[in-house]
Parts: sequence; C-alpha cells; structure tokens
Amino acid sequence: IGLVEVLGQRAPEPRELILINGVLRIVRNHLALLDYGERDTLTGLLNRKTYDEAFYKVMAATMPPAGDQSSDRRADARQQHHFIGVIDIDHFKRVNDTHGHLIGDEVLLLLSRLMRSSFRFYDKLYRFGGEEFVVLMRGGTVEQASTAFERLRTNVEAYVFPRVGRITVSVGFTQLRPGDSPSSAFERADKAVYHAKQNGRNQVAH
Ligand code: GH3
Ligand code: MG
Ligand code: MG
Repeated sequence: IGLVEVLGQRAPEPRELILINGVLRIVRNHLALLDYGERDTLTGLLNRKTYDEAFYKVMAATMPPAGDQSSDRRADARQQHHFIGVIDIDHFKRVNDTHGHLIGDEVLLLLSRLMRSSFRFYDKLYRFGGEEFVVLMRGGTVEQASTAFERLRTNVEAYVFPRVGRITVSVGFTQLRPGDSPSSAFERADKAVYHAKQNGRNQVAH
C-alpha cells in the first residue's frame, strides 16, 4: 500500500512508537479516503460516478412506494425534504487565463475546503468535473437549505485566495421531487445556476 520511513539516531522509545503508530493511522485513513476511485483526486470530494447511487438512496428513504405503512421512523423521514445544489465559479476562465492552470487548480482545492466547512458533515459533496460542484443535502426545510448555500456563497466571497484574491460563486438548488431521476434533479438545479448567472452572478437561486 505504501511505505513510511522514520529515521533516527537510535531505536525509538515506546512512547515514540505510539506516536509513529498514530501517524501511520492518519496516513492509512487518508489513503482510504482517496480509495476505490470514488474520490476526485484534486479535491478529495466525491466524484460524479458515485452520485447516482447516493441519489437513489436518498429517494428511497424519502419516497417509499404508495400505500406503504412502514415504521414511524420512515414516516418521519417523509416529512423531510432533500435538496441538490450546483455550485459554479464565476468567471473562472479569467483566473486560468490570468494566473495559469496550476493556480486555477489551487482555487478549486481551496474552494472544496470552504465547501467542507460551510456544509454539515453528512451533506454529500461532489466535484462533477471542471469548476462544477454538487451538494446532496439530506433533510431540512427550504429555508435551511437556502441558509447553507448562502453561507457558502458569503464564505467564498470573503475568502482571499492566494495570488488570485477574491472570487465568487453562483449557486442553484432545488428540492427533490417524487419521480426525479439523478439527471432531472441536476438539470433543475443547473437551470437555477443559469438564472443566478443571468442575474449578475454571486448569488443563490432556487
Ligand atoms: P461563468 O461565470 O459564466 O461560469 O464563467 P466561467 O469562465 O467560469 O465559465 P466557463 O464555463 O466559460 O469556463 C470554465 C473554465 O473552467 C474553463 C476552463 O478554463 C476552466 N476549467 C475547467 N476545468 C478545470 C480544471 O480542472 N482546472 C482548471 N484550472 N481550470 C479548469
Ligand atoms: Mg461552468
Ligand atoms: Mg464558471
């Protein structure tokens, strides 16, 4: 899997071995995160391949077949709304044209960190490719979803990216509906992004 070499003047003491084992555990966890081809190699976010399956899982938990008299827990789950959001960087081509692709990639990486810190632990975060990011949000109201996407928007707006300075994002989100497919829900959110772009960018549309 890999090799971690620890160099020293003498054999490590027991407490140092504990420390080394701790480091190994962290490295192992990190590798596991990048494992199985489920993650985007630049940002470590989930990649597009895993989106469909996660989508159907959310739909199955939300919208059981008609007439299903299942447990209270599932009934509770039905009260919850789920959302998909699409995030697109504004004028990202300019960043590449002005600072080069490598700096552009760094912006993508830093944006993924802002996403992690802006959303809840159990929201699923994807890089769909290029400068397009997707969030699958389980549970909550439209207001809560809107607040979360707005939080990301303002966090990005306030962040000073090394060399590049400030950038903004346009966000579109939509509630999942019965009968939605992974692509129909995505397309609706993407339309909302288009709307946000048309209306001046740096905003959240629903
Ligand atoms: P808009 O505000 O309308 O979204 O403008 P934009 O320039 O962000 O949109 P457009 O779709 O025209 O350009 C997206 C650019 O993203 C094109 C390409 O240079 C850049 N890009 C796509 N994928 C990557 C990538 O993996 N790394 C880097 N550095 N740039 C990328
Ligand atoms: Mg784009
Ligand atoms: Mg863009």
